Amino acid sequence: MTQEQRLIPLVLSNGALNSAVATGNNASWHCSCERILPLIGKSGQIKGPSENTSVECPDCKIRYFVEPDGGDYKRAVRVVEL
Ligand SMILES: [Zn+2]
Repeated sequence: MTQEQRLIPLVLSNGALNSAVATGNNASWHCSCERILPLIGKSGQIKGPSENTSVECPDCKIRYFVEPDGGDYKRAVRVVEL
């Protein structure tokens, strides 16, 4: 079976909802700054973002966190702009 491309919510800091795509514990999305290449990140821990589990856009420095499904580093269920 090929790797399922799941659509998951991308929650922006102003509360707006957008979409990200996930496969396993990886997620990919487009940054709010409209950088052409997408960002990609792995899910982090249940307790929330830390320095080494956050994803920072190289262009605008906005940070994101990929939320895991019920346990540390489990499959990606949501991407949140921090
Ligand atoms: Zn950006």
